Amino acid sequence: MSFSKLGLSDAIVRAVTEFGYTVPTPIQLQAIPAVLGGGDLLAGAQTGTGKTAGFTLPILHRLSTDANGAALLNNTAARPIRALILTPTRELAAQVEESVRIYGKYLKLNSAVIFGGVGINPQIKQLKQGVDILVATPGRLLDHMQQGTVNLSKVEILILDEADRMLDMGFIRDIRKILAVLPKKRQNLLFSATFSEEIKTLADGLLNAPAMIEVARRNSTVEVIAQKIHPVDRDKKHPMLTHLIKTNDWSQVLVFTRTKHGANKLVEQLGGDGIGALAIHGNKSQSARTRALAEFKDGSLQVLVATDIAARGIDIDQLPHVVNYDLPNIPEDYVHRIGRTGRAGATGEAVSLVCVDEHEMLRDIEKLIKQSLPKQVIAGFEPDPSARAQPVQLRSGNGGGNRNHSRGGGTVVKVKTAQTAKPRSGGSAPSGGGFGGSRPATTARRLGAPKRQAFFI
Ligand code: AMP
Repeated sequence: MSFSKLGLSDAIVRAVTEFGYTVPTPIQLQAIPAVLGGGDLLAGAQTGTGKTAGFTLPILHRLSTDANGAALLNNTAARPIRALILTPTRELAAQVEESVRIYGKYLKLNSAVIFGGVGINPQIKQLKQGVDILVATPGRLLDHMQQGTVNLSKVEILILDEADRMLDMGFIRDIRKILAVLPKKRQNLLFSATFSEEIKTLADGLLNAPAMIEVARRNSTVEVIAQKIHPVDRDKKHPMLTHLIKTNDWSQVLVFTRTKHGANKLVEQLGGDGIGALAIHGNKSQSARTRALAEFKDGSLQVLVATDIAARGIDIDQLPHVVNYDLPNIPEDYVHRIGRTGRAGATGEAVSLVCVDEHEMLRDIEKLIKQSLPKQVIAGFEPDPSARAQPVQLRSGNGGGNRNHSRGGGTVVKVKTAQTAKPRSGGSAPSGGGFGGSRPATTARRLGAPKRQAFFI
């Protein structure tokens, strides 16, 4: 099956082909005809499935070919926003808009991206000039609405990308305020990796007889990504990481830590070992984050240290090495993290440095992914068998909020009834800072979709 057979215009197929895609991914095969048909869509798809092109290509087609589009294209007056794409994070917003520009390069459509953490005036200027497709994070879009610098009265297509993340990050009220100003008659597309009750409620109120599609990850973790555990003592993680990077000659490594403080400390330690590293997390300015990501992508930065939320939406093709310096306290985050490697058919490697404090987290992860991860002790780093577990400091809340949840035998079955989730002892997750929007303790809700999680792995 090729892109041209899906009914996309030649200009779009040309851009996609030039970009190197030859075969549509499963989500694209299903989503493109559904969106071209004009109806609403509810899609279960994670990052890594090709979902962005799944909605971008058909909306580009619709906007460039329908009668409205033709009339507007010939009109010299400022063009109204006809498609609005909402994403949870700035990084994802930037990447989606980049995709719009790449796939739409042979079309006469304008796009813009607006998010917080950067000056609002250039955005106001851009909006004034006329934008057909606007990609935005909810908080900054609301700022523009309040200032009267954006007009959403002509939106024909609304896309909520990573809707579950947006709810996790506490954006539901912002989203509702945005929905309230959109024209009633429009096409709605909702993409989400998980389907909690909250997502279902949002979908019920938003979508009209939607087509429903679900796809597994394009690369299942099991097949493409080699996963490995290196048992290690708590205070030997840093020397072990340096050892791994140096002995294996790793040139591009994405390292996850649980906390912002842990990320900063590790960057300093690696620097001391002569390894170039930068951190991205919610306390870093947007320009610092953008710069770190750009240097990492172009290969000039060897190690990028990230917290889970900061890493969302990072899309790096063929990233060979992901290191879990700390295991995530939410098992699903493990899948998201290692999904950053082995993209687009490439193979990748994900290694986790696991100390005695994290054995329970490891058990939860192995239950979730339904496999036992191979353990390899590295000579010179044999863990002390008499070491005792200590309480783990949970992530420092990038977007604010508390994602603690019960660890007591937190199996997939257990999380089904996670309304009873209680904070893990010793855990504290201060709120504030980060990507904007406070994130309530929604872990329980996000985890309330065990079937789906199992489906994606
Ligand atoms: P997404 O799920 O939209 O974040 O896309 C994941 C990755 O797959 C991105 O690196 C895309 O560039 C890539 N991708 C999307 N569609 C295709 C395709 N049809 N063929 C090859 N790679 C693709």
